[in-house]
Amino acid sequence: MEADIVIVGGGPAGLSLAASLSGNGLAITVVERLALENLADPPFDGREIALTRRSKRILDELCVWQRFPATEVAPLRRAEVLNGASPVTLAFERGGRIEGVLGWLVSNQRIRRELYDAVVARPDIQILADTEVVAVRSGARQAEVGLADGRTLRSRLVVAADSRMSPVRNMLGIDAQIHHTGRSMLVCRMEHERDHRRVATEWFDHHQTLALLPLNGRTSSAVVTLPSREAERLAGLDPEAFNGEMGRRFGWRLGEMRLISTRHAYPLAVTWSHRFVAQRAALVGDAAVGMHPVTAHGFNLGLLGANGLAREILRTASQAADPGSTRGLRRYELLHKLACRPIYDGTNGIVGLFTREDPVSRVARSALLRAARRLPIAQRSVAMLLARR
Ligand SMILES: Cc1cc2nc3c(=O)[nH]c(=O)nc-3n(C[C@H](O)[C@H](O)[C@H](O)COP(=O)(O)OP(=O)(O)OC[C@H]3O[C@@H](n4cnc5c(N)ncnc54)[C@H](O)[C@@H]3O)c2cc1C
Repeated sequence: MEADIVIVGGGPAGLSLAASLSGNGLAITVVERLALENLADPPFDGREIALTRRSKRILDELCVWQRFPATEVAPLRRAEVLNGASPVTLAFERGGRIEGVLGWLVSNQRIRRELYDAVVARPDIQILADTEVVAVRSGARQAEVGLADGRTLRSRLVVAADSRMSPVRNMLGIDAQIHHTGRSMLVCRMEHERDHRRVATEWFDHHQTLALLPLNGRTSSAVVTLPSREAERLAGLDPEAFNGEMGRRFGWRLGEMRLISTRHAYPLAVTWSHRFVAQRAALVGDAAVGMHPVTAHGFNLGLLGANGLAREILRTASQAADPGSTRGLRRYELLHKLACRPIYDGTNGIVGLFTREDPVSRVARSALLRAARRLPIAQRSVAMLLARR
């Protein structure tokens, strides 16, 4: 047996699972198709991840949060939701112990880099980079993972953390609901004239969804969701034309805008795996649930799932039992499905309602926002989905 646990995918979910398992007498191998240099020094990918308080707590426990430079953590004070040209705004703020902070924005690049740094020197974690998993067989006694370079790894448990189109999920014979939306999300950093006052704006405009996520200084992450072809056109404009078009799309809310990063367009597909576990196998991160990014829950749920799966594996291992045994895996599946399903369905419902342009949907979304403003319970539900950051 080469390892107790093989994790396929060294993205944020796979690395946070490895970090959560480390230090407990288990031998862990992470297999990643990207080269080691990419893991150690990931390129900017445009994603600014809105992290919840719970995610901060988990990252604190993994000694990862402390590694983020203060200049790269942007606190979020308030979130506002706008609907077309309607004057009705839904706003969320938060009091509590961390006065006035809804959550924090940290780039995906920084999260990946610090997770890698946190695990790379641990003696119980082996990272096999620059090689791809091409076959997985999981049986009653062990799991076997075949690599593109011809090697085979044997373990007690294999975990798929290989993204929403998860090849390992297919190799395990697990079906998934996959919905290609036909839209892409264009993301980049922009400088602007006016102060954002640490307010995030989500704007369900006609034929486009826009968001401005406040970073440090007079900069924001600009997020535009459009039909894929239109997003590609926008991403290909020369910077001057792009700045003008973005300023117009955002209604000059923050004055003139100027591109200060590379642009990245992500075709949007949402996915839900019918099972999160199989014999000696489990799915975490986007491989289990591929969220629509609009409500900013993907990595937050991935981190929660990695934490929950690690807890079950370690509980089983502490009783000198097989860490790949079915009982703990099933408990993980049950709890994680309960945590994810309402958020997954709620997000998809909101995306559907706010992107349809028929008169009934327009009336329904205005009514929803008005109700949410008046009814604390409705406000809480919408807040849970749109601003749980
Ligand atoms: C524009 C955008 C904005 C977002 N904003 C937020 C946000 O604000 N808050 C939030 O919580 N989430 C957000 N998300 C979601 C978040 O980025 C994802 O949920 C998260 O990155 C998923 O991590 P993962 O490790 O599961 O998958 P990935 O990051 O996709 O990593 C999977 C890894 O597996 C590797 N791999 C794949 N196949 C194989 C194979 N066969 N063999 C070996 N390796 C393999 C890949 O190379 C990759 O490194 C956003 C997403 C997008 C697109």
